[in-house]
Amino acid sequence: MTTSRNDVLFERAKKLIPGGVNSPVRAFKAVGGTPRFVQRAQGAYFWDADGKRYIDYIGSWGPMILGHGHSGVIEAVQKAMMDGFSFGAPTEREVELAEEIVKLVPSIEMVRLVSSGTEAAMSALRLARGATGRSKIIKFEGCYHGHTDALLVKAGSGLATFGNPTSAGVPPEAVQHTLVLEYNNIAQLEECFALHGKQLACLMMEPICGNMNFVRATLPFMKRCRELCTAYGALLIFDEVMTGFRVALGGAQSLYAELIPGFKPDMTALGKVIGGGMPLAAFGGSKAVMEMLAPLGAVYQAGTLSGNPVATACGLATLREVQKPGFYEALAERTRSLVTGLTAAANKAGVPFCGDSQGGMFGFFLLGQLPQNYATVMTTDSPAFNRFFHAMLDKGVYYAPALYEAGFVSAAHTAADIEATVDAATQFFAHR
Ligand SMILES: *Cc1c(COP(=O)(O)O)cnc(C)c1O
Repeated sequence: MTTSRNDVLFERAKKLIPGGVNSPVRAFKAVGGTPRFVQRAQGAYFWDADGKRYIDYIGSWGPMILGHGHSGVIEAVQKAMMDGFSFGAPTEREVELAEEIVKLVPSIEMVRLVSSGTEAAMSALRLARGATGRSKIIKFEGCYHGHTDALLVKAGSGLATFGNPTSAGVPPEAVQHTLVLEYNNIAQLEECFALHGKQLACLMMEPICGNMNFVRATLPFMKRCRELCTAYGALLIFDEVMTGFRVALGGAQSLYAELIPGFKPDMTALGKVIGGGMPLAAFGGSKAVMEMLAPLGAVYQAGTLSGNPVATACGLATLREVQKPGFYEALAERTRSLVTGLTAAANKAGVPFCGDSQGGMFGFFLLGQLPQNYATVMTTDSPAFNRFFHAMLDKGVYYAPALYEAGFVSAAHTAADIEATVDAATQFFAHR
């Protein structure tokens, strides 16, 4: 039996790093097997420690919208690097990146740069509480906003009660102000506002939820979220860490704004694509709210590496590329063709399967119809998903190793990559 270098590395890693990984989903715990240790990546592909090539549908969980090793981005990063890695003092590129973000996302008048999506969501939450002088918050089951204590919570037994921590080490007191509701459930939302509306600092949501695979907020639900927040003086926070610059140039909010006149969130968290693969994230909103942040206001927030000069160079170069005419149209077309192809392959073999996509983000389900909330997503036959995952992995196609994660297509994926992927799926479904 030949020994895989992935196995060797995983054994070495497990001795020193809990679970062998620095972020849990990478460990393949849900699907079983050995995680692939990535050696290098280029365009739509990466190569593992055994030199095997994969078509990459994760793209670092979203950031790599241009594909790996984009020449323009590499050039910008190399140039920035030569001028210094970090100064702990302001730089021109931070201003440029802020200008780009404000130009592209109309609801953002002012922005603060941070280093991770967790930080962005956590800081937006603190600011919302500071701005409103209220403590309670709403989040939805299945939405992920990073691993800050107050947001690591699942639904409790009823609306009048608060959620339960989803992690050990989070004291019940830390989530005592967090109300967890079902995504797309208008009646529950209304009931919650009726009970707690006057004490709510904010409602935080993923407008298209990529942390329960791919579930859109329905139009009536989104309308109601906006109306109720406005009526009760709570801030509507869009966590667009995943969807920002991924589903459309203006993020998911631009799509809802096309359908709901005058629509915008009060605050937005960004990450992933705006860093182009470097640790960079941001949160922003109206000038009135953002001016409550230190050093202007009383809400404290800080970061040694915030606005890092190399990360901002990477993010800026990425944002310049995605603004080229036709970028999202081409990306969306390619992504759609993947979902359509997979669905046709499965359905032809009599396998229940459906999917959805927006821009360069997609989801697929081994279900007869698209789910609207977390509980339905989790009705997926998980052994069947795992068989599909491993069959595709063997054939050199790398999907997210968990059935509740979204997938990502980059501008580097070609029609031939999609075709090869659909062919692999066709073979699996036919011989399953
Ligand atoms: C990835 C993600 C986060 C967390 O970002 P990190 O950079 O991993 O801390 C927060 N919210 C959403 C919607 C995400 O997809």
